[in-house]
Amino acid sequence: MTESLFCSMKKQILLATLFIASAAVAQDSLSKYTEIWSPVPRVVTPGKTSADAPSDAVILFRNKKDTANWMQDNGKSFAWKAEDSLMTVTSAGAIRTKQSFGDCQLHIEWRTPAEVKGSGQGRGNSGIFLMSRYELQVLDSYNNPTYSNGQAGSIYKQHIPLVNACRPPGEWQSYDILFTAPQFYADGSVKSPARITVFQNGILVQNNVELIGGTRYIGIARYEKHEEKAPILLQDHGNPVSFRNIWIREL
Ligand code: MG
Repeated sequence: MTESLFCSMKKQILLATLFIASAAVAQDSLSKYTEIWSPVPRVVTPGKTSADAPSDAVILFRNKKDTANWMQDNGKSFAWKAEDSLMTVTSAGAIRTKQSFGDCQLHIEWRTPAEVKGSGQGRGNSGIFLMSRYELQVLDSYNNPTYSNGQAGSIYKQHIPLVNACRPPGEWQSYDILFTAPQFYADGSVKSPARITVFQNGILVQNNVELIGGTRYIGIARYEKHEEKAPILLQDHGNPVSFRNIWIREL
């Protein structure tokens, strides 16, 4: 190999190295354009398990003293049966939270009676009404046929649950709910409908479904303009359903 040819090869290798290095630098500087550093998500400390309230949750019911967060829907004082860590429906009517909520993440645990009585809608019936209007059905749907859009995990008479994730009667079950409140124009028409995602016992049963209005026992659901926040209501349907470990995060 002549000396000039050797020099030419060295030059080419040097140029190639410089090209690769500069390309890497350019790529690195370009990657910075897609990095977002602000805002920094605030720190929330999780509970020991996903059922435990995280640090920023509002505790709605953990023990008997938390009945102070609730009242009867008719305006009277709380009149369900409260024990150390649970409360049970009585014939006193529905209860609701004193505080109002809109968009939220809600965790709630419920138990239908171990002693099975009644059938269909008459067995372990209660319900969680988001904004006092939109019912996520609570029912003993373990070997208890009823209309599919009225079984446990349904958005009552609007959305059939994706699966039946029920545990046997007498066992505690959980709902983890993500609720987006509806929005209305000034004239009362719907700007954006309510949406809900529900996990029952960790299993997805409602996947970001759109509500067609307030749930109704008879007739087609429809929206009526309401406030931006409203209480969570728990139904008295004449069955002694119990609730425990209720917490909520406002979104
Ligand atoms: Mg119900």
